[in-house]
Amino acid sequence: MKAEILAVGTELLMGQIVNTNAQYISSRLPDVGVSVYYHSVVGDNPERLKESLELALKRCDVVITTGGLGPTQDDLTKETIAQVFGKKLVLHEESLEEIKAFFKNLGREMTQNNEKQAYMPEGCIILKNNNGTAPGCIMEKGEKIIVMLPGPPSEMKPMFNDFVYGYFKEKSSYSIESKFLRVFGIGESAMETKILDLIDAQTNPTIATYAKEGEVTIRVSAKVEQGKDTQILLEPVIEKIRKRTGPCLYSEEDQTLDLVAANLLLKNNLTIATAESCTGGLISQTLTDIPGISRVFIGGAVTYSNDAKEEYLGVKKETLMQFGAVSRETALEMAEGIRRSLKTDIGVSVTGIAGPDGGTSEKPVGLVYIGLASGQGTITKELRLHGNRKRIRTITALYVFDMIRRHILKLDIDLGGQK
Ligand code: ATP
Repeated sequence: MKAEILAVGTELLMGQIVNTNAQYISSRLPDVGVSVYYHSVVGDNPERLKESLELALKRCDVVITTGGLGPTQDDLTKETIAQVFGKKLVLHEESLEEIKAFFKNLGREMTQNNEKQAYMPEGCIILKNNNGTAPGCIMEKGEKIIVMLPGPPSEMKPMFNDFVYGYFKEKSSYSIESKFLRVFGIGESAMETKILDLIDAQTNPTIATYAKEGEVTIRVSAKVEQGKDTQILLEPVIEKIRKRTGPCLYSEEDQTLDLVAANLLLKNNLTIATAESCTGGLISQTLTDIPGISRVFIGGAVTYSNDAKEEYLGVKKETLMQFGAVSRETALEMAEGIRRSLKTDIGVSVTGIAGPDGGTSEKPVGLVYIGLASGQGTITKELRLHGNRKRIRTITALYVFDMIRRHILKLDIDLGGQK
């Protein structure tokens, strides 16, 4: 089945909000045998919505709309679609009761215009909204299917997962399963070169690479008849990719590098402390975003000035004088210092020049040293990064998480390439 996702909302056209609904629905539909051919966006205008809808119905079997189901005058999706399908809107008593109950629960008065949300195209399948007021619906006409979902992602996603996903799964004769392999330390073009023969030979599974800041994701998707096992197709290809990526492959479950590092710390009961300069607390913040991390993350220090490095971490004045704050030697003493003062299994450190100012020909912007101190000694790594301040900080943090991962898994620290 070919599908078009038609997002309705003038805010989308004005650039006030991003069309994350289309992205989400697109990522879920292939699993149930629906291929997304088009994304389109139209404002809250019935004429243009009608035109967009007619075009979508001409070129696709399935049209999924999001937005415009609400109570206000400009919420016109349902009315317009019903008109195109030649259907009347009829009161759906159960939905009306639910909308009334929704307001009662919130202790708020229901305004008259909310009743509009309970009028649904006759003969449609009603999709209950457990997280808001506007129900969604599915209309079938001949070979065509149109699904209407609410705009707010907090309402759209559960409605999609609870009803729409299963609806298409039942209809579909095949399913697609995708695995997302995440790689750090190999750039996208180098990665593609490494697996070019696999990409060139792909039929089923298909393989694609995507670059994100500092890392690459490889998607491997297998298409099988409904009920058949995808692993038979996926596993041999994934095994070939594993061999080519070596220790740079850090997740086969689409997990982030920080989460992988944190899980390794938790699994091995290894406590950690951070000493950060140019990342300004980014590593601690990322760690503390992870629920349950308090079991292993003991604390961190943001030591921006030389004085702070001496005072909090015990970095020697001579080290700072002789080698400078941005040096392998300082990174080493920072990691050891924080580990010593917070009595952790691991201490990590960052010192570098994130720019845009502060670089010299000897120590340019993007020069960063990271360190990791543990019971097995201290390791440091020099990074030479490019890009703006934000990118340098983000990628430095990734290198630190990768260093933690490699340390715990006893992998070669120097394998990670630099960019
Ligand atoms: P409501 O019942 O809240 O009126 P609705 O179905 O009428 O829902 P809209 O009024 O079109 O939806 O949008 C409500 C909000 O949902 C928007 O302000 C926006 O925050 C979010 N939203 C709408 N469409 C999208 C989209 N395509 N992607 C992401 N968010 C969206």
